[in-house]
Amino acid sequence: MEGRIHSFQSMGAVDGPGLRFVVFMQGCALRCPYCHNPDTWDFAGGKSYSVEEIVKKIENYRSYLKKGGVTLSGGEPLYQGAFVLSLLKALKEKGFHTALDTSCQVLDSYTDDILDHTDLVLADVKVLSDRFLPYGWSLSRAEAFLEKTKEKGVSVWFRQVVAPGLNDTEEDVKALSAFARQYPNVKKIELLPFHKLCLEKYRSLNIPFPFETVDAMEKSRVDDLSRLLKNDE
Ligand code: SF4
Repeated sequence: MEGRIHSFQSMGAVDGPGLRFVVFMQGCALRCPYCHNPDTWDFAGGKSYSVEEIVKKIENYRSYLKKGGVTLSGGEPLYQGAFVLSLLKALKEKGFHTALDTSCQVLDSYTDDILDHTDLVLADVKVLSDRFLPYGWSLSRAEAFLEKTKEKGVSVWFRQVVAPGLNDTEEDVKALSAFARQYPNVKKIELLPFHKLCLEKYRSLNIPFPFETVDAMEKSRVDDLSRLLKNDE
């Protein structure tokens, strides 16, 4: 089985616990206005790899990944459900810790099996309203996906990009914290500052950057907001 892959990062330190091999999968149907990876959107982009080829690459780093593992990110991995399931199964057979970085928008015939082979979901909960509907992201779809993780007892970390005017007030962050309490399997909430390092990517792809005029988020402000969260870890 082959999947479309955007790129690999052999030793990522920010996409789950420990050092991780990160597989950035190609393709996303959403159009988040702050997306910093517009080059992953095109489903026909990237390059095809087989499960075996990817596992072989990862095996080269096994000794570094002992306290970490492998993270599937994107793009949105769940648009390639059959391939993701096959890759996760192969990784679990080899004893790797697996994490899935997802926008929680795809719930299909692969979801149950995928979650059965996932140790940690990095859930991108964008905003607790329907403000993201025009960009393709729905809170109710995310809730349905999170319910499924709860039912399966899969650990979840929330990861939210904080952007001015979108979700950057103390009330927004307290509401996110309260929302997380509905899911006992949510172990951690991470807030990530919106940045504009992707501006050149948009220009080179000739795609308008919807948040071009929105100010980047001060890290110190995000640190202050993060103190409002009650993290278990
Ligand atoms: S879900 Fe992720 S990859 Fe897709 S548009 Fe949003 S931020 Fe970009």
